[in-house]
Amino acid sequence: MSKVAFLGLGAMGSRMAANLAKAGYDLTVWNRSPNASDALRAAGARVAESPRDAASGKAIIVSMLTDDDAARSVWLDRQSGAIHCLDKGAIAIESSTVTPGWIAELSGSVRQRGASLLDAPVAGSRPQAEAGELAYLVGGDADTLDEARPVLDVMGGKVVHLGPNGRGAQFKLVINALFGIQVAAFAELLAFLERAGFDRAQTTEMLASLPVTSPIAANTAKLMLSDSYPPMFPIDLVEKDLGYAVASAKAVGSNVPTTQAVQRVFSDAKAKGYGADNIAGLAQLFDPM
Ligand code: NAP
Repeated sequence: MSKVAFLGLGAMGSRMAANLAKAGYDLTVWNRSPNASDALRAAGARVAESPRDAASGKAIIVSMLTDDDAARSVWLDRQSGAIHCLDKGAIAIESSTVTPGWIAELSGSVRQRGASLLDAPVAGSRPQAEAGELAYLVGGDADTLDEARPVLDVMGGKVVHLGPNGRGAQFKLVINALFGIQVAAFAELLAFLERAGFDRAQTTEMLASLPVTSPIAANTAKLMLSDSYPPMFPIDLVEKDLGYAVASAKAVGSNVPTTQAVQRVFSDAKAKGYGADNIAGLAQLFDPM
């Protein structure tokens, strides 16, 4: 079994790495806040002092970090960056939801070390990460993917190869834009119906049963009926992804006014203090009360 390093043990990364430990991989983990490594240490993983230390001597290095900036610092920091200890022939897997621009930058640095990169963001949230049922959206070389597939198969139920580096990142941003757009539409339109005198629970049920509503929008609209929005896929991350979708569309000359407008809605929610709430918490922005 390949020696694997996992960088970033947040809500998603901790669950993904736990599955690698469970599957018996020789696993080294690193996280910026050290306490997050305790559970993985108890599960048999080695805990590294830095991304650089974690990457040393590993065949596969996976990262699961907040955004471009976090990933850039973990991979490329002058002192502690994983890149400095990337072995020739190693495979770097960027699973964070990031821009194709960052993937292009990282791919150049990885190639200079004689290693290969896969951009492999995931569809699915905490329950799918825990169950090893994420869907991987992969950009990169097909042979590299074949080599990395056993590791991805432990964490995911599905691995889709979308083309060269950057394609996984790009496609993932479109998925999240579609999700965010639908949720924003439901948040404002359900509030509109409620203001007009409709019963919220009844209208939600009815809309959820109609073909105009996607399964994920139906589930999220039902979550909007509660007054608590414990984090799952938080508004902060949705807003980040919509911004990345707009930027990456602009980079290829594509006009995405709907995505842009919805990003502003999520930015408003962030500014009002709802950033840590689950995506369904967007309903609070339109609360008729
Ligand atoms: P999270 O719980 O907030 O974890 C973020 C991770 O990034 C933590 O390990 C954090 O370290 C690390 N980090 C942040 N800034 C850093 C920096 N400057 N230097 C080093 N490490 C840094 O987020 P998550 O939910 O696991 O999401 C991780 C990625 O997966 C994101 O790109 C997200 O968009 C994507 N994603 C999330 C979901 C979801 O449902 N949550 C689903 C699919 C994809 P600390 O512990 O020290 O803060």
